[in-house]
Amino acid sequence: MRFLAQAVHRSFRKVEHCADWMTGAAGPIFVLLCCALVSIGMWTFFTSMFINLAPLPPSIQHLFNTHSPAHIILGLTSAIAEHPWQMIRWFTILFACFFIVYSIGYHYYMAVKEPSGSVLEGLSEALGERRNGPGSELWWSRYRRRAVRESILAARQAKRRKFGSQSSRTSNGDLNGRNSAAHGLLNDNTSISSNSISDAEVQRVEDGEDLWVHVKMCHKCQRVPLWKALACLPPELRAIERSLRSKRPLSASYLVDEPELLDDATRGESAEDVRRWLGAEAENLVPPPKPERTHHCSICDTCILKFDHHCPWLNQCVGIGNERYFVLFMVWLSIGCTVVVFSGWKTVRKAVSFDPWEFPYTPRLFPLLTFALCAIMGFALAVMAAWQLLIIGWGETSVENSDNTHYRELSKRKGLSFSNVYDLGFMHNLALYFNIGPFSHHSIFTILAPWRIEPYSDGWHFAKKMGMSGRHEGVNPEEELTDDEVERDDAHPLAK
Ligand SMILES: [Zn+2]
Ligand SMILES: [Zn+2]
Repeated sequence: MRFLAQAVHRSFRKVEHCADWMTGAAGPIFVLLCCALVSIGMWTFFTSMFINLAPLPPSIQHLFNTHSPAHIILGLTSAIAEHPWQMIRWFTILFACFFIVYSIGYHYYMAVKEPSGSVLEGLSEALGERRNGPGSELWWSRYRRRAVRESILAARQAKRRKFGSQSSRTSNGDLNGRNSAAHGLLNDNTSISSNSISDAEVQRVEDGEDLWVHVKMCHKCQRVPLWKALACLPPELRAIERSLRSKRPLSASYLVDEPELLDDATRGESAEDVRRWLGAEAENLVPPPKPERTHHCSICDTCILKFDHHCPWLNQCVGIGNERYFVLFMVWLSIGCTVVVFSGWKTVRKAVSFDPWEFPYTPRLFPLLTFALCAIMGFALAVMAAWQLLIIGWGETSVENSDNTHYRELSKRKGLSFSNVYDLGFMHNLALYFNIGPFSHHSIFTILAPWRIEPYSDGWHFAKKMGMSGRHEGVNPEEELTDDEVERDDAHPLAK
């Protein structure tokens, strides 16, 4: 049985590597094929299907049917002036269609181009997101405080809901701890309805253990010099390492899981500084750190921050750095396919009939091909995009979704109820994922905007439920799954 399971697993890995080869080694052919299909689709849509979506006034149609450039140029202004509203509608729909096409392209490009976020390399150089050196403390604290503020706000809202509607009292006894923690946040000076959070409140939560980063080490990654492993740690963790090392220089493990105050000397130090204070130990090879929500990707052979899955169609992982673009790409592509399916069926009916073909610039086969592709792909994509949005709303990644199902069963057997520490409420989770909402620099409308928006988290600090010591409820830390039991890359349908 064990052998059979291993054989099945090995064949899955072969399929995966084949898909990876298609997008990697055979990249140019694959990209060319995709470009050809997309070009055919777009040409077909704008030359034969778009007219069903936004018909031109008959006088303008008649003008174009003359096929005489002189007639068209001379008659166009007066024809447009005759039907101003119809023309405004026509241009609006045209603009919307171009916007959809642009959004699909932009989000795909960003999902491929943006680094998914490896533990050692971090997010991206584009925003000056420094991991160490001058200014790094400001960079780190920006992410940490955003997570703290979101957690406080979510705790307040949970409390408000509890006291606002006593009838909807939950039977979950575990919530009591969380609510008492939330109560602690609602000190006498704070109005429940207020969204403003004082600096003192932020400081109190920041110093507590509710949002403390939990870090392990990855034994699947290649070992790295100790200075490199320590340089990529957040300053508050490195401070502990440093203080411990000054007391007992040769420790078996270099990671400690205890909250302590940040040492001033650790702020803004560079990788060179770390190397210097480590001294002779600096070049010792150690497994790299692996913060919570990080998983090892066997295809990329590295650890990815907030790993979702490895996507062969992007030829890289989906992680904290590019997850936003990946999901928005799926959403826009399913919108695009839906538009084609709804506007194209009339054209397809004409293409399969025996009537004379009325679109001189489009071969009769193109609408059939485009329609079939968009109908199948659009349906599959819409289902996957909806599922992805749903699990984002639950505060989970694809990997965590399968892990949490396991935890739920585990805690049920123990007579407890499982609670996901990253689940701050459906809308909160969505706002955090897309980095919009009350504590973001980005308005809610930027969800529609095709431009770069950095993630709310650095991949180490996450907003969490209060009063749970930063861990899931109903499952012991030693019962939590690691990459050693489950091969992570198989977790997503796109990875196969
Ligand atoms: Zn790893
Ligand atoms: Zn990967």
